[in-house]
Amino acid sequence: MVDIMEPKKKITIIGAGPGGYETALAAASWGLEVVLVSDSPVGGVCLNEGCIPTKTFCRNAELLDNLKDASEFGISTGEISLDFAKVIERKNAVISQLQGGIEFLLKSKNVRFVRGRAELKDKNTVIVHCSGSECPTKEEGTAAGESTEEIVSDFIVIATGSVSATLPITGADAEGVVTSREMLSLDSIPQRLCIIGAGVIGLEFASIFNSFGSEVTVLEYCKDILPHFDTDLAKRMKQALGKKGIKIETGAQVKAIERADTGGSLSVIYSKKDMDLSTEADKVLMAVGRRPAVQSLNLDAVGIEYSPKGIVTDSDMRTNVPNIFAIGDIRGGIMLAHAATFEGKRALNAILADIREGSPEEGRILDGIDFGIIPAAVFTRPEVATVGLTEEDCKDKGLKIKCLKSMFRANGKAVAMGEADGYCKIITDAEDGRILGCHLFGPHASDIIQEVAALMNKKATIDELRDIIHAHPTLSEVILSAAGI
Ligand code: NAD
Repeated sequence: MVDIMEPKKKITIIGAGPGGYETALAAASWGLEVVLVSDSPVGGVCLNEGCIPTKTFCRNAELLDNLKDASEFGISTGEISLDFAKVIERKNAVISQLQGGIEFLLKSKNVRFVRGRAELKDKNTVIVHCSGSECPTKEEGTAAGESTEEIVSDFIVIATGSVSATLPITGADAEGVVTSREMLSLDSIPQRLCIIGAGVIGLEFASIFNSFGSEVTVLEYCKDILPHFDTDLAKRMKQALGKKGIKIETGAQVKAIERADTGGSLSVIYSKKDMDLSTEADKVLMAVGRRPAVQSLNLDAVGIEYSPKGIVTDSDMRTNVPNIFAIGDIRGGIMLAHAATFEGKRALNAILADIREGSPEEGRILDGIDFGIIPAAVFTRPEVATVGLTEEDCKDKGLKIKCLKSMFRANGKAVAMGEADGYCKIITDAEDGRILGCHLFGPHASDIIQEVAALMNKKATIDELRDIIHAHPTLSEVILSAAGI
């Protein structure tokens, strides 16, 4: 890429998750002078306490499951045990390695990283509060203490993410009640784990700790697990998790958590079909969603439109203050790392267009990103993956559709792997055959879904999919099988 402007325009990005740091790197590549501010290490929630650390746990779970099943493959093992301290140590090493990679990239592109808490002063000024050794502008000889820096720039991108939500119930703050963050740094594996919420986070931890040997109970308020996913998929997935020994109660409203005076046991009290019930646990994971981190930014000082649900933007990620943009979880929409990254791309494209053209223009087409096609995966065992419209979405929109299905038990590779539990559903427009969505669970579902996402981006039809030669034997053939002849 080339420098497109002289003198250099300045951009300050608040938040160093996959939204913020990727946008910082891209902005620097386009010749902008970039400052990246974050109150936590680079990588944000995704790298430090979300996507990546849970994936290290997932790998532990997979290895353990494989070892437990080894005799079916003619392999004998001795007694299998899990050194949880080592699991945590490996997880931390993976985080450090990836942090090092991002820091290297930021340095090599001359992005200035400032560690501290940022707030807005006016539409061009960000104040950063930093303390002690974290503060790069700390005066010589100051051992610790707060200092502030004011950073003035032409554009500001807010990418400060979200925080775990908790239920406003008695006992929500009891000892032993944790969020996903603490689940990644436990001292030991809980014998009995109760998870409140059968969304993405709840089910990933349910699957991991089931493999680690915990007795897992999941309590979900809605009538199905994964409420925003295709219902048919969710029902089948519930059965698959049940077969693994995970107890899932749907239609369960959690009312309180009580801690016994002795023994440290927790009692989670919930109601189901007008009956008051309870389940006992050693740890309770609260996985009831995340909320945008809008509180500490001083958004009112600049008049940015927001609510507890997030900062309001247009489709260019621009707030009502034209030189300030917001991307990722802070917008309160789809809370996915890759969505944040691509929202950052869109925001940067708008900023570059502003610079070239002098001011924002209505209705410009900035890029080919389609935010209606965002693949998503749940890293349970088996994995869940989804893209596009669900059957329920199609019904709501009054679309005439066809649903095409296949099972992993008819897929040679899956059967050979001993992982044949799973299914695939492709939804097409009944009139022109365009692929509208795909929902599957099974081995490597998170990788398989990319093919359908690519086809949907190219507005492909089911006939066009049928013409694509797929290698045999591969798991991706499950897509071709669903498409049929
Ligand atoms: P979520 O919205 O996916 O699920 C929360 C669940 O809690 C819902 O099913 C909801 O019905 C349930 N719930 C709410 N109140 C309840 C109550 N009183 N009793 C019982 N159940 C209750 O939220 P999450 O799982 O916390 O995840 C937060 C965000 O992080 C999501 O947007 C998710 O997409 C994202 N995330 C994504 C990944 C991934 O892509 N693999 C991984 C982790 C998190």
